[in-house]
Amino acid sequence: MTHHVPVHPLVSPWGRFGLYSFFIDAPEPAIVDTGIASSPAEGMAPALEALGRRIEDVRWILLTHGHIDHLGGAHALWELTGRRAQVVIHEADAHLLRSRRAHVQQYLDVRQRYLHDPEGEAKQTATAAQVISGEMEPTVLVRGGETFSLGGGVTVSVHAIPGHTAGSVAYVIDGQDDVFVGDAVQVHGAANGFPGFEDPSSYRASLAHLRDLRPRHLYLGHPYRRPDGVPYGVELDREQAQEALEHSLDIEARVADAAHRYLQEGLQETDSAYSPFARVAEELGYQGDPTLEPSPFFTTLHGYREQLAEKL
Ligand SMILES: [Zn+2]
Repeated sequence: MTHHVPVHPLVSPWGRFGLYSFFIDAPEPAIVDTGIASSPAEGMAPALEALGRRIEDVRWILLTHGHIDHLGGAHALWELTGRRAQVVIHEADAHLLRSRRAHVQQYLDVRQRYLHDPEGEAKQTATAAQVISGEMEPTVLVRGGETFSLGGGVTVSVHAIPGHTAGSVAYVIDGQDDVFVGDAVQVHGAANGFPGFEDPSSYRASLAHLRDLRPRHLYLGHPYRRPDGVPYGVELDREQAQEALEHSLDIEARVADAAHRYLQEGLQETDSAYSPFARVAEELGYQGDPTLEPSPFFTTLHGYREQLAEKL
């Protein structure tokens, strides 16, 4: 048995939000997720200094998925380590690390179909330029099932948990059941108040997989909200983790039920901001602004629409 490896949340400011990364204080130190371009210098470096650690000593950059607020700081952090850290991402999300344009394309392929924003492409292009610190080739591509040694007998295993994105992964510190999931456990969603996932059936299967792991600690990418709107923290104990996973499964089932019913009746374009899913929003009582980025309402409902189209 190895000794217990400490984990420290690192918070980086972004407008009115805090972005969360996690420092695994192993002999070869690791950081899970990297915030945006400014996060390594403004959030992580001072936080590590306060812990008596140095950002240049980080040897593993473990990305849970390809969204900008998780990989935007990857290139900057890699530079701060003298390019000595391994940069790990699932192969299905790797294009989002290689290319800023891939983020714009993803927006055009899904959200823009519902948002119809004439400035949408320009806004997304500007955001990607500002928030992503650099385009790069990952040094390690994973698919799930891999194990890395962080030295001193500490190992981290990779679990594929697709759904939020195709390349979402969990990193598990072996033997102490600490599980880092990024955005794969949405409960009621974060600031937008709606759970965001691209592929509903994969999302559900991944939640069930995580529930079976029975994490001792579950580390989340944002303070996701409970059914009553009160957010969880980003570090959940075993009991809170099981509760958040059960709630996430329940909420997905409710959204699926409403989505399937109205999708089968046929979608109608209306003047509603929720169009063409206005009746789904109404049934679920969702009153958030569906146009606020990252527009989880449209990402998720589009996923059900695609899933149904495949069955027909
Ligand atoms: Zn995400």
